[in-house]
Parts: sequence; C-alpha cells; structure tokens
Amino acid sequence: MFFTPVSPPALWVQSAPMFCPYDLHSHSTASDGTLPPAVLVRLAAEAGVRVLALTDHDTTAGIEEAAGAADDAGISLIPGVEVSVTWSRQTVHIVGLGVEPSHQGLREGLQELCEFRHWRAEEIGRRLHKAGIPDAYEAALAHSNGTLVSRTHFARMLVQRGIVEDERRVFKRYLVEGKPGHVPGEWAKLEDALAWIHAAGGQAVVAHPARYRMTRSKLRRLISEFRELGGEAIEVISGSHNRDDYHNMAKLSQEFELLASAGSDFHSPENPWVALGRLPLLPVGCRPVWSGWHQPEHARLSRITG
Ligand code: AMP
Ligand code: MN
Ligand code: MN
Ligand code: MN
Repeated sequence: MFFTPVSPPALWVQSAPMFCPYDLHSHSTASDGTLPPAVLVRLAAEAGVRVLALTDHDTTAGIEEAAGAADDAGISLIPGVEVSVTWSRQTVHIVGLGVEPSHQGLREGLQELCEFRHWRAEEIGRRLHKAGIPDAYEAALAHSNGTLVSRTHFARMLVQRGIVEDERRVFKRYLVEGKPGHVPGEWAKLEDALAWIHAAGGQAVVAHPARYRMTRSKLRRLISEFRELGGEAIEVISGSHNRDDYHNMAKLSQEFELLASAGSDFHSPENPWVALGRLPLLPVGCRPVWSGWHQPEHARLSRITG
C-alpha cells in the first residue's frame, strides 16, 4: 500500500467551523440573565465552551454555584464581574476576570453599586407609575432573583404584560435618556472599578467597546485612559460586535498594546442572535487575554469550589 487513505476525522477537522473555546462574558439570574448559574454552565459546556467566565452586573453572587457546576461539567469557570462605570458622562462596562469574589475591597465597591441599583429600580418604578404603568417596581422585582433589579427586568416585565412588543422597544420608549422611566445617576469611577478588580487579583477588560456609539476619538480617549490606569484588555470578539467591529477592535488592541478578549455577553436562550459556543476565534495578531493564564487561575478555582 503506497497510499494511506485520508481518514474521515482529519477531513472533518479541516472542514469543521472553528469556534473559540473561551467565552469570557456571560450573565445568570444573579443579575439580568434568565438561567441560573449552574444551568448556564451546563449549557455552555454542552455547546463546546471549555473556559467560561461568569460576569454578572455588579455582583459575584452566582460564582460559587457556577464553579461547582463547572467542576461537574469538566470545564473551567473564571470568576468574573461586569462593573458599571460612569466615564465622561457615559455608562461604560468594565469586565473583571479572575477576581477573588471574597475580596473585601471588591465586595464593598460592588455593594455600593447594588445599593444605587436598588434605589434606582424603585425610582424607575415611581416614574413609570407616573407614566401610567402601575406596580412596575414590584413586577420587575418578581422577574429578578429578588436581590438585583436591572432595566432588563423592567423590559421583560413590560413585554410580558403586553405593553411593548419587545425588549429593545422598551428601552427606546421608556428606559433611555429623555424617556419617562430614565433615572440619571453615577456608577463607579473608572479608576475605582480598575482598583477593585486589580486588588481582587483580576484583569480588567473594556466590555463591548464598539457598542458605546462614541466617536472614534472619544473611544480612543477611553482606551488610552483605561490603559494608563493599568487596564489589561479590550473585548475584540463580543456577541454585540459585527465583523467590522472585530477588525477595528483588533487593530485598536494592537495599537494600544492591550490584550484581546472574547465573550458572548449571553443573557438568555430566548435571545437568538447570541448563542453559546459560537464565538469566532480571535483575529490573527491579537494577544489573547488568557495567554498568561496558568496554575494560579486554577488554584483559585479549586479554592472557590472547595
Ligand atoms: P442596567 O445595568 O440595569 O442599566 O441595564 C443594562 C442592561 O440592559 C444591559 O446589560 C443589557 O443587558 C440591557 N440593555 C441595554 N440596552 C438595551 C437595549 N437597547 N435592548 C435590550 N437590552 C438592553
Ligand atoms: Mn445585561
Ligand atoms: Mn455590558
Ligand atoms: Mn454583559
């Protein structure tokens, strides 16, 4: 025999679509996701994700459950958080990866944000009441896990009541600046968010940078300030980025010598345009945020899962 037949597995590997095994941005019922942490982890593992970061808004409450489920499913769980920040009169989100959830400085910072969230949710309820929507806070609270209420919970509630067709329209009509349910307020300062994340042993990542609708120069100012404050990475691949965004953010990460991250920003299986396990690979030339990860990450993981 002079020819070895090409085995089907080799062919299959060549033609199979390559998805990124890392998903470093996701939400559970601990914030505004619809799946409990353990269910999210199981679905991610079934979809081919090997390393998942749970990054709920302003809380690490879901990490312990997620870490236990990740152990069972045989995947790695990176403890994370998505911190709400007000920068230059705009809300931006900073993801912390590999944070120690029990770190006191981080806990206190997030606690303050959650207190503001609580007050804001009641205030959104009062404002919607004036706009003719009674009991909005109570109903939104019922859509949440009872501790953290986000605008997403108001949106789901208004869709379920049949008042608005879909969540996007709720935001547009009720929850953004200039609309009846909008409540202005200050989230964390950029420097504080980075300080909490770093003190808790994590890496800071600018979440979905292409989504802020900033001018190019303002976005560059954000990234440059973030870098000066010691920020490590930006999301190049995100569930809310398109192909052009991948390209532009890859270039930006290289120009500013920042690491590149990839995360779906998964919230719910009902959201058909963001699926688990379907993120493309990072563009060539990007240095992955996980390139320096090794033992300590896993030591931290096993400490959490006990
Ligand atoms: P909050 O942090 O409570 O202000 O809520 C922000 C969350 O609302 C984001 O993380 C998204 O999950 C969601 N969100 C923001 N804008 C929109 C939109 N236009 N349509 C649907 N969901 C949105
Ligand atoms: Mn969200
Ligand atoms: Mn976000
Ligand atoms: Mn998010």
